[in-house]
Amino acid sequence: MKPESLEQFEKTGDRFLLDMAELEESGTKVAGLYCLFAPVEIVRAAGAIPVSLCGKKEKPIAEAERILPPNLCPLIKSSYGYAATDTCPYFSASDFLVGETTCDGKKKMYEFLGQIKPLHLMHLPYTTSEPHALHFWYEELLRLGRFVEEHTGIKIDREQLRSQIRVHNRMRSLVRKISSFQAAERIPLSGLDMMTVMESKSFFVHPDRYIDLLEKFVSELETIAASGYSPFEPGAPRILLTGCPVGRGSEKVLRLIEECGGAVVCMENCTGVKGLDPVDEEEEDPFLALARRYLQLPCSCMASNTGRLALLDRLIGEYSADGVVDLTWQCCHTYNIESRIVGDRIETKHSMPFLHIETDYSNSDTEQLRTRIEAFLEVARWKQSTGPAAQSGVR
Ligand code: SF4
Ligand code: SF4
Repeated sequence: MKPESLEQFEKTGDRFLLDMAELEESGTKVAGLYCLFAPVEIVRAAGAIPVSLCGKKEKPIAEAERILPPNLCPLIKSSYGYAATDTCPYFSASDFLVGETTCDGKKKMYEFLGQIKPLHLMHLPYTTSEPHALHFWYEELLRLGRFVEEHTGIKIDREQLRSQIRVHNRMRSLVRKISSFQAAERIPLSGLDMMTVMESKSFFVHPDRYIDLLEKFVSELETIAASGYSPFEPGAPRILLTGCPVGRGSEKVLRLIEECGGAVVCMENCTGVKGLDPVDEEEEDPFLALARRYLQLPCSCMASNTGRLALLDRLIGEYSADGVVDLTWQCCHTYNIESRIVGDRIETKHSMPFLHIETDYSNSDTEQLRTRIEAFLEVARWKQSTGPAAQSGVR
């Protein structure tokens, strides 16, 4: 029993290209983005359409390694490989690119991308707590605004920017609501299907139509939830997935967890609920409101990244997680190192099983991972049967 409109989410990428083709004659520009730190509201306020260019497939990596060193994370190599081979239709459709100085690999890769298309690099302060960090980031947002204005020929009107903030807040609140259905005891959607829905938020041309689709999906989920249907067996361990971004093409670990009998109830990563907090609509200066909200993104490139721990604490409670899987793409130093901090928190504060997986986009380690995930889920099941919830009769 799948929601009828799920198919439309599976096709959002194709829909994006069709809608863009229709807009071609009007001169509408496309901005290719690589990271959650790029404020889409600014791009939209200048009349451009943002699209995510984050590489999630293995195919273009071999070509990327002709230029980039092989010991880089697969996300960076895949993103660059698509650009170098011109095999990604969203990259082809992009008139300009926006990058950020997040991790070292990405920021140096942008120097190569900038040789292919006009690229604006936003400089990120690596702390959220110092007052000068906010000031610096605010100036970076203004600088992004000027770049986008120059490439679209459209001046950003602050009222229009405020309107985009309201629209994106509405969109994010619906995505949050959709994700929250998975907090129920009977989980209405597989984690894989939920990933498809969540990923679609980076591929839409018309916000109003996308919001309509999200609203329709909410009501379909309400019906499924009321029926008590779930694609999972009762008692399937509820897993929270954190770490590096995933998506269609790089969903290996998520798929394995569910093939082994677990239920991925929440993704804390950038594809999931990270970055769904609202922007302050009351703040007089919309650039400042955006700077505040975007600077708080709990990414591992921040030092320190306490926001991620707080978010995990909250999500573990909200989604009644039985275990946490932390996914690190090979050679992603920031997430790799931070995994120890996250693991300590999960084991000490929540006393729940924690599994750190370091892998890439290939299938070479699939069976090895399957064995580790099966063992992890066994521990999660055992904890579930002996934990306080079981003893109180809740599960
Ligand atoms: S994990 Fe960090 S660097 Fe990567 S896309 Fe998310 S916010 Fe950007
Ligand atoms: S996964 Fe890690 S190394 Fe790769 S782009 Fe994101 S932050 Fe950088």
